[in-house]
Amino acid sequence: MSAIRCHHLIKRYGETQVVHAFDLDVADNEFVVFLGPSGCGKSTILRMLAGLEDISGGDLHIGGQRVNDLPPQERGIAMVFQNYALYPHMTVRDNIAFGLKRLKVPKAEIDSRIKEVSDTLGLERYLQRKPTELSGGQQQRVAIARAMIKTPKVFLFDEPLSNLDAKLRNHMRIEIAKLHQTLKTTTVYVTHDQHEAMTLADRIVLLRDGRIEQVGTPQEIFERP
Ligand code: ADP
Ligand code: ADP
Repeated sequence: MSAIRCHHLIKRYGETQVVHAFDLDVADNEFVVFLGPSGCGKSTILRMLAGLEDISGGDLHIGGQRVNDLPPQERGIAMVFQNYALYPHMTVRDNIAFGLKRLKVPKAEIDSRIKEVSDTLGLERYLQRKPTELSGGQQQRVAIARAMIKTPKVFLFDEPLSNLDAKLRNHMRIEIAKLHQTLKTTTVYVTHDQHEAMTLADRIVLLRDGRIEQVGTPQEIFERP
């Protein structure tokens, strides 16, 4: 059984179709990267997976369940955004805990999960600070911690490194790769950066104008004879 199965997924905005019969199976623990120029439909497909965008046609299964009409919080996914999307008025700890608190998880369990994820991501020292007091890389780590703490079946990343400078981008890219080696959570990662795609992906889905141009390993995509 695939972790994610997209069957003829379609997205229309009014009269305009921006995703055309998108077919993809993502295996358990696989790291799939959607790569392509701005406007090719990467975010739209990701947001349909996340439940942040209505699906105009086709079927979406996550973990074997048809999720077309399920709200985001019932899909077993967690998403990390380009702009981090942290709550500025809350401490780092409260940002990380937010999703679990809403699910009424007991405090002792939340505390131990916070300790676990903040150890993993090196955030112990920042738990009492506000996001605005942190660097871009630290804020992105908080966003990843907030996603991780929900132990999702699937991680979705929407251009998570685009707002970081080159050095930090490299650093965080390596951290995300390591994290995936440790957690092995099924991951779909959107980027327009070929280097990110090559170094992170098990498989790359190359998109153009809302259609799949090519699917393959980084070697298959970039080392064609
Ligand atoms: P990418 O993530 O690859 O940059 P998007 O998924 O954001 O591309 O956009 C795909 C296409 O859908 C683009 O042509 C974009 O203009 C269009 N689009 C995205 N959001 C909307 C919207 N809310 N209304 C109308 N068109 C949209
Ligand atoms: P869940 O815990 O189910 O992911 P969230 O409470 O995180 O749901 O809300 C969904 C998304 O909307 C969040 O990931 C967050 O990025 C964004 N969001 C919600 N409220 C705010 C806010 N006040 N400021 C910034 N982003 C927000």
